[in-house]
Amino acid sequence: MAGPICFYVPSHIIDHIARNARRAGLDADAAQRTAVASAAIRQQRQTLATTSMDALTTPRPGQGDRQIFDDQQRFETGGKLVRGEDDGPAAPANVNAAYDSLGATREFFREVLGRDSIDNAGMTLLGDVNYGDKYDNAFWDGTRMVFGNGDEQIFQDFTRDVDVCAHELTHGITQHTAGLIYTDQPGAMNEAFSDIFAACVDQFVQKVDAGEHNWLIGEEVMAAPMYGEAIRSMAHPGTAYDNPVLGKDPQAGHMSQYVPDGDPHINSGIINRAFYLSAIDLGSYPAAKIFYAALQSLWPHALFTDCAYLCAEQARLLARDGKVSRNAPQTIRAAFREVGVA
Ligand SMILES: [Zn+2]
Repeated sequence: MAGPICFYVPSHIIDHIARNARRAGLDADAAQRTAVASAAIRQQRQTLATTSMDALTTPRPGQGDRQIFDDQQRFETGGKLVRGEDDGPAAPANVNAAYDSLGATREFFREVLGRDSIDNAGMTLLGDVNYGDKYDNAFWDGTRMVFGNGDEQIFQDFTRDVDVCAHELTHGITQHTAGLIYTDQPGAMNEAFSDIFAACVDQFVQKVDAGEHNWLIGEEVMAAPMYGEAIRSMAHPGTAYDNPVLGKDPQAGHMSQYVPDGDPHINSGIINRAFYLSAIDLGSYPAAKIFYAALQSLWPHALFTDCAYLCAEQARLLARDGKVSRNAPQTIRAAFREVGVA
């Protein structure tokens, strides 16, 4: 089941880097290659070679088993199979980081939300590392999770931050549930759900709750010269970065800043912040249960107001069943009103 290809670093950032890196004294070649490669991936979905799997564990169907491939710096997915489920660590280290990230994402969905892999039927999880040459991005192509190495000036290896994998895999889950289309308000919600569960997986791994988390997306993949920047801030949309190479974070955090037909990564800040406000009050996992229930009852062309209504409705049902606190419906309504969705 193929959906749209979702890139981790949005095109407005990649394009800004490609235009401004050289002026800022950085080597712009990697960023320009990334921009070109991303466009090519968008145009032609690559046919996947089935590689032989000598001496590695064969995935059991329907168990959410993992398979990690090394693309060996080629711009082609499905390279050499290097680690299967329950196989020991393999070289290089990013193979194991990808294996662990896929595992953490799978476990969060299983333990906290009761979901069995992307399709809720134990779909095998495929991950590719070392994709391309200093490739400054990561993406979910509808069938597999693909990580670039970064150029080490702007981005580092994309396996470094578990929220990369969690964000991208959630696009697969959205594709199998609400099927939100990738434009305007449904597109912004599609993006927001990916950030929401990415933040929750981050907290799941770090064993922290809403109040102790930084609510940043992608801060661990920024290379040393970009230390302290991030790709998005869920607590304070529009403040994640501001520098000559990346540009200035354009994310909206309130309906008054909504960009009609804007990039989904820009308007997603509104729903991200509504989740953040809910999680601070209810705890991240109860808030995640509510938003996950809403995701399953949303539909492809749903609007923000539908999301607000369904979150409050699901909060009421979950509160009735003792799964979230009694005040959850009111907290959810207040959070959406605070970002101008009512
Ligand atoms: Zn995304």
